Amino acid sequence: MDQTSEMIREQAEKVLMHTYNRYPLVLDHGEGVFLFDIDGKKYLDFCAGIAVFALGYGNKAYNEALKNQIDCLLHTSNYYYNVPAVSAAKKLAAASKMDRVFFTNSGTEAIEGAIKLARKYYYKKYHRADSEIIAMEHSFHGRSMGALAVTGTKKYREAFEPLIGGTVFAQYNHLEDIEAKITERTCAIILETIQGEGGIYPADKQFLNGVAKLCKEKDILLILDEIQCGMGRTGTMFAYEQYGIIPDIMTSAKALGCGVPVGAFAAVQKVASAFEPGDHGTTYGGNPFATTAVNAVFDLFLKQDVLENVKHTGTYLYDVLEQIKQNNSCVKQHRGLGLMQGLEFDTSVSSIITKALKKGLILISAGTNVIRFLPPLVISKSDIDQMAEMLEECL
Ligand SMILES: *Cc1c(COP(=O)(O)O)cnc(C)c1O
Repeated sequence: MDQTSEMIREQAEKVLMHTYNRYPLVLDHGEGVFLFDIDGKKYLDFCAGIAVFALGYGNKAYNEALKNQIDCLLHTSNYYYNVPAVSAAKKLAAASKMDRVFFTNSGTEAIEGAIKLARKYYYKKYHRADSEIIAMEHSFHGRSMGALAVTGTKKYREAFEPLIGGTVFAQYNHLEDIEAKITERTCAIILETIQGEGGIYPADKQFLNGVAKLCKEKDILLILDEIQCGMGRTGTMFAYEQYGIIPDIMTSAKALGCGVPVGAFAAVQKVASAFEPGDHGTTYGGNPFATTAVNAVFDLFLKQDVLENVKHTGTYLYDVLEQIKQNNSCVKQHRGLGLMQGLEFDTSVSSIITKALKKGLILISAGTNVIRFLPPLVISKSDIDQMAEMLEECL
């Protein structure tokens, strides 16, 4: 007999560490913008595995590329060269306007690498190991000790302290606060171009341009975390393009591999050259399988005109959510760019999300009061209409 959903959930709760309160869904397969559970129930997916599955599920060309690479070569280590890593790095460097790329296995590791690179740059310049990093309140950069140290949510950090030292927090979208916290030891300022987990807060134009200017004046490195908001999510390959700035270091992950675990940090030459052989490493990072996924993602973004779709459907989603806000007094605010938007409610959104799941709509929260809308980037206007209809029924 096939295992029921309940049996699987019961086993999962015994054998997996209880670090998540999971929704009672056992997912089986996907098709386009839809997911199916093991009982065959269909869900419209507005989560995309947390902004990962940009190309939608079951993309033939993407799957073929990966299958071919499995039969060719999965892994080499970084002691040797491999072709997919070189072409993926060229594509990411060109898209991000960076010069050099280091591939990792996750977003968190990309942040770790970015922090190490910033510290090394400072160390090489001043011959001192006392650098500080300014990070933002309500930011999210990952769960390892370094990434947690720059994550601005106390409840994630508190039990695990002491984390790495030398981090200072400032208010997001508050230039004066950052300015006040800069010292001669500041090596970098790290922020998400659009805060994701923190509740979908885009950086103000003036703020981010001001930060970039401060960084330039004082030779402080600007690290932009584009792990969630990058890879086309806002209608440009990276969100900072819309601000007319280029960071010194940027991080990517999530949709970079569209399901294959891969991240990267990239830097301009002046900064990247601070790293020398032996300074950083990884066994899996940038292996031919993961970087084949990256190549396929970049190629298919072009071929399927994904950015163009995000521009149209992002505007459409904005109008639709604006309408929902007007119709429902429980919606307090609406924020976001492209296909990264959020509705803030006056109370916890968990019951709305549970109701939506029952109806066949997958939504996720950001914090307690915000619903995040992060659909696959190949979503259509009629999918958005369908989402809106189901969501309205839940409010
Ligand atoms: C998800 C996320 C991370 C962490 O990435 P993982 O792949 O989960 O390690 C870091 N920064 C931002 C902005 C994220 O959204």
